[in-house]
Amino acid sequence: MHSGTMTSSFNDNLVFQRCVIPQCGGTNSLDDTSFCCPKCGGIMDVAYDWDRLPVPKSLKDFEAKWMLRHQPLPFSGVWRFYELLPFAPPSSVLTIGEGQTLLRQSDHVAQYVGVNNGNLFLQYEGMNPSGSFKDNGMTAAFTHAHMTGAKRAACASTGNTSASLAVYCSATGLMRGIVFIGSGKISYGKLAQALDHGALTIQIAGDFDDAMQRVQQIAKKMGIYLVNSINPFRLEGQKTVMYRVLEALRWESPDWIVVPGGNLGNSSSFGKAFIELKQLGLISKVPRLAVINAAGANTFNLLTNMNSVSWNKGEPNKPVMNQFFTEMDTQNRRASTIASAIEINRPVNLVKGLRAIEFCNGVVRETNDQEIMDAKAKVGAGGMGCEPASAASVAGAKKLRAEGVIAPSDRVVCILTAHQMKDSTATVAYHSSDQKTFDEVLGVRGVRRAGFANRAVQVPNSLEDIVKAIEVYA
Ligand SMILES: *Cc1c(COP(=O)(O)O)cnc(C)c1O
Ligand SMILES: [Zn+2]
Repeated sequence: MHSGTMTSSFNDNLVFQRCVIPQCGGTNSLDDTSFCCPKCGGIMDVAYDWDRLPVPKSLKDFEAKWMLRHQPLPFSGVWRFYELLPFAPPSSVLTIGEGQTLLRQSDHVAQYVGVNNGNLFLQYEGMNPSGSFKDNGMTAAFTHAHMTGAKRAACASTGNTSASLAVYCSATGLMRGIVFIGSGKISYGKLAQALDHGALTIQIAGDFDDAMQRVQQIAKKMGIYLVNSINPFRLEGQKTVMYRVLEALRWESPDWIVVPGGNLGNSSSFGKAFIELKQLGLISKVPRLAVINAAGANTFNLLTNMNSVSWNKGEPNKPVMNQFFTEMDTQNRRASTIASAIEINRPVNLVKGLRAIEFCNGVVRETNDQEIMDAKAKVGAGGMGCEPASAASVAGAKKLRAEGVIAPSDRVVCILTAHQMKDSTATVAYHSSDQKTFDEVLGVRGVRRAGFANRAVQVPNSLEDIVKAIEVYA
């Protein structure tokens, strides 16, 4: 297909990588794959010289792309916003039609959260080819990987990144995918995808945070392209989730975006999306961002709310953060939640997450597994399925409404990060009338009740009994 070298117009400092810390000023060229600041060792942003790039005058201009859906780039829900992530020549873009997702209003969930009917929206990213929002970022990282001539790509994953990488490798045939997963931590739905799509799957004895450290070492040592969200190109693709939300709301910013926080890739990319849209004069109002941790993986909540760590103009309190992680290590505290996709204690995008919270006047909260599973059942009963981690957004919105931070009249968008079928074990256990099944999956997580369970009805195999059951229950 395309050669591994970039065309000259894209080597012209129009696009480069820049340290997230403005005072540092460290930069890397577009084709760097260390994703590490050469001056301070921190994480990088993809940076654009917007003055020399063609930027639309209005977000409405993107609507013209709808007529071009027979072409691969305008068809993609990521690349139809090409002008807002123009790091690759259009001919180098690798897309499999990701980002065909849905924003749906749900009064059922509005009532549960406590906002007015008509004001609660679910952004369903489970409709992506691999069933999670990760595809938005993977198409961008994959494009960059191919531009730099990579032949192998790796990630550590709680499941959805590996599923996404495996799908892109198998669908394009351009790269060998290598996925690192913690042992016993991955749901079958996600493991099935990595295996079925032919990724080399390495299960290490440890959890996600261990796997993340190992994959970074391996990537460096063996020159393998890393697609974890430490990769700033992934975050470029994930910005488009926000563009699609705005598009679905006729380009009018909602009051709140609520998102689950794991590695804080989504939170960071949403923040960057709004920073750039504002800078480019494409929006006037910036929505507030709410990032929701699971209580069993609450680093971001603890640091921001208990330890007063903030972006602080690019100088977040490093000693406090370092001490926090040192204590975590000495006490051997491990992340633990039914919401496996956010079972992460060392978010790699921490500093970018702080920036997003600062720019979007955001808040951080945590929700426990009981609240997450109850919210998930409500989302399902409202007509949209999701996995446990996704429902943290709805549980978090409910909490913020109860606190009075979110008002009943606010328009709230909760991001449903992945599909219901990703983790059917948790769902079936919640609805099961069998206490043993419930306890094995949920009881061990401190979930005590299934307040919104829809239990299967046991009926003898006789016509009369079946008729009776239907008359009683339906
Ligand atoms: C990856 C993932 C998350 C966490 O997103 P981050 O960008 O790492 O914060 C949340 N939900 C689901 C379903 C995921 O797959
Ligand atoms: Zn730096």
